[in-house]
Amino acid sequence: MSDAIREHCGVVGMMCRDEKIVSCLYWSLLTLNHRGHESYGVAVLSPDGHVSVEKGLGLISDLSLEEFHAWEKELRGRLGIGHVRYATSGQLSSKADLFADAQPVADEHLGKNLCIAFNGNVTNLLQVSEELASGASKRSDAHVLLRVLLEEYVKNDDVTDVLRLICEKLDGAYAIVGLTESGELFAFKDPHGIRPLSYGFSDNVGIIGVASESPALAVNGIELSEELKPGELVLIGNDGSIERRIIKGMCEYFCAFEYAYFARPDSKFQGRYVYEARRELGRKLAQRYSEIARNVDVVVPVPQTAEDAAYGFHLETGKSVEPVIVRHRYLKHRAFIIPAEQRKLILLHKYNLLLDRVRGKKVALIDDSIVRGDTLGHIVRMLKGAGAREVHVFSTFPKISSPCFYGIDMATFQELIGFNRDEEEIARLLSADSVNYQLINDFCDAVGTNNLCLACITGSYPTPYAQKLAEEGRRLALEGKRAEGRLFEVMGGGRCRA
Ligand code: SF4
Repeated sequence: MSDAIREHCGVVGMMCRDEKIVSCLYWSLLTLNHRGHESYGVAVLSPDGHVSVEKGLGLISDLSLEEFHAWEKELRGRLGIGHVRYATSGQLSSKADLFADAQPVADEHLGKNLCIAFNGNVTNLLQVSEELASGASKRSDAHVLLRVLLEEYVKNDDVTDVLRLICEKLDGAYAIVGLTESGELFAFKDPHGIRPLSYGFSDNVGIIGVASESPALAVNGIELSEELKPGELVLIGNDGSIERRIIKGMCEYFCAFEYAYFARPDSKFQGRYVYEARRELGRKLAQRYSEIARNVDVVVPVPQTAEDAAYGFHLETGKSVEPVIVRHRYLKHRAFIIPAEQRKLILLHKYNLLLDRVRGKKVALIDDSIVRGDTLGHIVRMLKGAGAREVHVFSTFPKISSPCFYGIDMATFQELIGFNRDEEEIARLLSADSVNYQLINDFCDAVGTNNLCLACITGSYPTPYAQKLAEEGRRLALEGKRAEGRLFEVMGGGRCRA
C-alpha cells in the first residue's frame, strides 16, 4: 500500500494465572501496533472489582520504562483489555481530542459499570446516538457503543442478552472486548464477522485470550488460536470458566482487505498464514496477465505489504525481484501534528530508489492495493525518471471503486482513483504503461474463501444501512457533489460528534 491509508484499530482481551495481566496486554498491543498509531490504552479489573484505565498517544513502543513500571504497579489484576487506535470516527484535530477518544472507554450508568474497546465502525451511529438518554457521552463510536450497551445492561446484567439486543440496533462491523463489573471478560464479533478476532488459550502458560490477530496471542505463549465465528461471544469468568456461543450468526463477510494489506503476514485466518495468501495473490496476477508478466525484466514490490506477492510473481515467472524502492524508516507523520499540505509532502518523500537497478528495464511494480493513487503515481514517475523503459502496475487487490463504512478509512467515492474510471484512465493518471488489477475470482481462490466482504470492490454491502449510504453517496458523487467528510458522518443529519 503506497497510499496514505492508515490502519484502523486493534483489540485484545486476556485472563492470566497471576496478577501480571498488564505485561501480557503490553506485548499484545506492541504486536498489534500496525493497526493503530494514534493512541493506545489498557484497562485492568482489580481483585476488588474496580476497573482502572491507562492511555497514551502515539505508539505503545514510545511508552517509557518508568511509565511501564508505573502501569505494572497501578494495574494489578488477572483480567484486562487493551486497544490501539487509528480514528475512523470522532475528532482528529487535537491531542486533547485524540486522548479523550482513546480506548478502552469506561462509563457508569444508574450504578452499573462497563468498560469496552472496539474495532470496526457502526454505520448508523447517528441514529443510534439520537436514541440515547440525554447526558450520554457521544464523543466517538466507542462512547456511543458503550452507552448503548450500558443502557441495556442496567435492565439486564446478562451480557448474552445485552449483546443479542444491540445486534438488532447496530448496522456495521464491530469486534468488541469488554469487562463487566461482576468480573467477566467478554469478546464479541458482529453477526457478519467483518472484523477479525481470534481466540485461544494455553494451559501451560495459564492464559486465555482474544485479539484482533493471532500473533498478539502467540507473543504471550498462545500458539493455537482460531477465528471467532460471526456473531460469536466468548465469555471468560474471573474463575477461568469459558463460555462460547453464537448469539446471532449470519453469513460471514470477513474483510478481504485484511488479507491484502492490513494484517501481519504471520497472522493466521482460517488456519492459514496471511503471507501464503499474499504469495498466491502474486502468482495469480502473473498467471492472469501472463503476456505482460513474461515481458518484464524485473519485479519491484512497493514496501512492505507487497513483498510476499512479488515473491509469488517471481515464482510464477522466474523474473528476479529487486527491492528497488527503499522506504525511510523513521518518518513520522501523525495526523494531529502535521497540516495536510505538509503531510502530502512527507508522503512523497518517504521513498528513495536504487536507481541503477531499473535503468533501461521494463518493470512490474507490485502494490497490494490502489486506493487514491497519489503516492503510487509518484513512485511510477520516480521509476520513469530513473530510466525505467516501461512500468506496469499490478495490484493484488481488485479495483476499489466504493468506500468502506466498516472501519477502513476510505469513506468517500471521490477520494478513490478507481471510482468511475477504467484501467486505461487510471494508468494515464499514474503515468504507468498499464494497470493490472486482480480479478475477484482469482482473489477468492488465492485466499481460499468466498466468505468475504468485497463491498469496496463490488459496491454490494452486507448490511442494509451501509448499502443505503453507498447508493446515496454514489448518486451525489456522479452529480459531481463532494462529501465534506466520511459519508457515514456527514449523511443523515450532521456529524457524529455531539
Ligand atoms: S468494504 Fe472493503 S475494506 Fe471495508 S470491510 Fe469490506 S472488504 Fe474490507
